[in-house]
Amino acid sequence: MTMQKQRTTSRTGSTAGTGPAAAVRLADVSVRFRSKKRDVTAIGDVSLDVAPGEFVAIVGPSGCGKSTLLKLVAGLLTASSGEVLLGGEQVTGPRHDIGYVFQRAALLEWRSALRNILLQAEIRHMEPASARERVDDLIRMTGLTGFEDAYPHELSGGLAQRAATALALIGDAPLLLADEPTTGLDRDLVERTVDELRRHTDEGRALLIITHDLAAAERIADRVAVMYAGRIVEIADAAPFFGAPGPRHPYARGLLDALPERDFAPIPGMPPELGALPDGCAFAARCAYADARCTDERPAFASDLACHHAPTGRTHPLKEAADA
Ligand code: ADP
Ligand code: MG
Repeated sequence: MTMQKQRTTSRTGSTAGTGPAAAVRLADVSVRFRSKKRDVTAIGDVSLDVAPGEFVAIVGPSGCGKSTLLKLVAGLLTASSGEVLLGGEQVTGPRHDIGYVFQRAALLEWRSALRNILLQAEIRHMEPASARERVDDLIRMTGLTGFEDAYPHELSGGLAQRAATALALIGDAPLLLADEPTTGLDRDLVERTVDELRRHTDEGRALLIITHDLAAAERIADRVAVMYAGRIVEIADAAPFFGAPGPRHPYARGLLDALPERDFAPIPGMPPELGALPDGCAFAARCAYADARCTDERPAFASDLACHHAPTGRTHPLKEAADA
């Protein structure tokens, strides 16, 4: 069963300016990590708006800056430049009004799974009876039944990840950030978890999820943001992205083609080191369409795309020429 995705507003393009405040707004944000050894631009000039009730999936290769982006939204990291706004308010430090499923489950080792989750309810001053009811629901939903009294070291990676998801959902925060919440889970648990996250957004809350699971993203996301080498290279509505006409950025196309049920053509080579990015398009060295312009000039992010080949519209002229 596929969950019904609700799309009440058009979410393409930048929505800066008018209308209700975005749940999340990133405006030209960069994050640089400087050390004696290296200088890394983990995020470079990223802009993204997430509307209340919207579910955005972030995909991209390891080390491209996905977790950094989420930490920035949570106020756990400070931007080197640009602005981060939640509900129109500038983020200046760690936020307590968001739920966060960390990439590595953050559970207290000396508390059982149940008591780890209950602690979140206490921190949020929830009334004990309703907190207990909600926790029991979440335990059922995340498939933790039978493991309530287990301590974190007794939980498998997948179970710990499920406990982390339950923990993030408990407060019904208006914004939920999830960093690979389904890694290591069986298919049915992946679906249960993302369906529960989806229900969360259907109640008007926003969700930003990082995932390698494209099937899960297709199942529940409203929009997809594709990251590569510290930038968002494409933002698209999920339906045209996963269906027709498909992604516009060559990296994103490669990502879908690499799925077993598609062409299964892996993207050749390795992504560049963020400390040693080329002057031009970071994907140029791996891109079948790259020309001199791509190696010389970094493509601007325009019309939800950073690629010299498809500046406007949904078509990909070079791909079409190659297919003809
Ligand atoms: P992803 O989640 O996409 O795998 P990350 O956001 O974790 O990528 O990391 C992006 C880049 O930033 C990597 O090169 C990583 O080494 C670097 N990085 C992340 N956090 C820090 C930090 N606190 N200090 C220095 N470099 C960091
Ligand atoms: Mg990460």
